[in-house]
This record gives sequence, C-alpha cells and structure tokens, in this order.
Amino acid sequence: MMTNETLTRILTYFDEILPEAGCELNYRQPHELLIAVMLSAQTPDASVNRVTPILFSRFNSVEALAQADREEVETIIRSIGLFKTKAKNIIAAMRMMQERFSGAVPSDKAFLTSLPGVGIKTANVVRAELFHIPEIAVDTHVTRIAKRLGFVKMSDDVTTIEKKLRKRLPIERYIKTHHQMIHFGRYYCQARGMKCAHCPLVDICREKNKNLAVEK
Ligand code: SF4
Repeated sequence: MMTNETLTRILTYFDEILPEAGCELNYRQPHELLIAVMLSAQTPDASVNRVTPILFSRFNSVEALAQADREEVETIIRSIGLFKTKAKNIIAAMRMMQERFSGAVPSDKAFLTSLPGVGIKTANVVRAELFHIPEIAVDTHVTRIAKRLGFVKMSDDVTTIEKKLRKRLPIERYIKTHHQMIHFGRYYCQARGMKCAHCPLVDICREKNKNLAVEK
C-alpha cells in the first residue's frame, strides 16, 4: 500500500517536470476530439494528428462525416492501425450521434459507450477533456507507470487499475495526473530504454534494478 508521503513525492515530481501536461490530440470541434481519440487506439497521437487535419477539412461536420463514403475515409486514414474498422466506426458513430443526440457528443458515459467503437477508455478521455468530468483513462502508459510506481499490482487489469487510481488519487487531480502519467510514460519512463539512473523516483520504482543494471 503506497504511503501518503510516497504519493506526495510522486505528485510533486510530476508537477515539477510536467506542470502543463494535457491532451496532445489536435481538434477544433467536440466531435473531432471524439474521432481523434477513436483513431488513437493502439496508435501514437502524433500519427493521428497527421491525418485528422485532412479528414476534418474534407468532412467538416458531424453531418458530413455521417454521410461520408467509407472508402474515402479509409484512404485518408490508411496510415493508422486498424483503419478499416476505425473508418466504419467513425461513420456509424457520427450517424448515431445525429439520430440519437442531435449531432452533439454526449457527456453521459453509457451514451458515449453506446456509440460504435467507443469503449470505456475513449469515453473517459472525452468526458475529461470536453466536459471536465473527473475521469482517469487507463492506456498503455498509465498502466505501465501505475505498475512501476506501485499504485497497483503488476498483475492488475485495466478495470482494477482505474478503480485503484480513483481511490488513491485526490479527485481534483484525476485529469491532471492522468495526463502527467501519460507524458511521464511517453517522454521519461518509456517501456524500454528509460534512464533510471537519473530518475528521482528510482527508490520507489519496481523496475529500477533491471534497468540500472543495463546502464552500468
Ligand atoms: S526508475 Fe526507471 S522505470 Fe522506474 S520510474 Fe524511473 S525511469 Fe521509470
């Protein structure tokens, strides 16, 4: 069980190195954020940001996307993993949003996850980013960092990780710390090749020994 002192150390360090951590997906309208998050499944944000300007200028509204030709959408997003499924889901989600939610992105979690291709993680990102609802979206970075820093067990699944993080973090920190964990995982504590010898959290971390041994 992580002590309050350890938690404070981690959060203070995150605030020092990542004071402005936030969403790195580019969007101008709410539905564009939803689509960008759908595209980002198993795909880096930078790759998503390369295709969305083309997609959103060709189809610049929910209505246009709902009526879009699937093959044309596929062609625009074909550099993205699972592009065929994602193209199908984006068009179907925009159609359902038009039919059931007057073309607006719903804030309710059950409504969001009723949209094709929208799971809990996507719904949590959208709720936090668009509606400022305290949510923690557990992606690959959050999973890795939560495990390494001892927020959760190494064997915990995403549902348990989300539950434990919600319990351990102050609610007013959910959105900020979720972004900080993603950025820490992306830029400081990658899956491999991280610089543990320079990490101030090395005494807390469960992965440190293995990597320090490699660096020596
Ligand atoms: S010691 Fe290494 S693995 Fe652990 S948190 Fe720091 S950078 Fe990540």
